[in-house]
Amino acid sequence: MSQDRLIKLSCTKCKRTNYWSEKNKKKVERKIELKKFCNWCMKRTVHKESKK
Ligand SMILES: [Zn+2]
Repeated sequence: MSQDRLIKLSCTKCKRTNYWSEKNKKKVERKIELKKFCNWCMKRTVHKESKK
């Protein structure tokens, strides 16, 4: 697993990193945006990719 392909998924509300993901090289280079459950906000929020 290559280090530079690892991305953080941070909650856009509290800015905390909740998930780690591996970037798929085959996909087009664009920011990932996912609705995931945030343990800090206690609800589903939009999580955005952020570089380390
Ligand atoms: Zn949050």
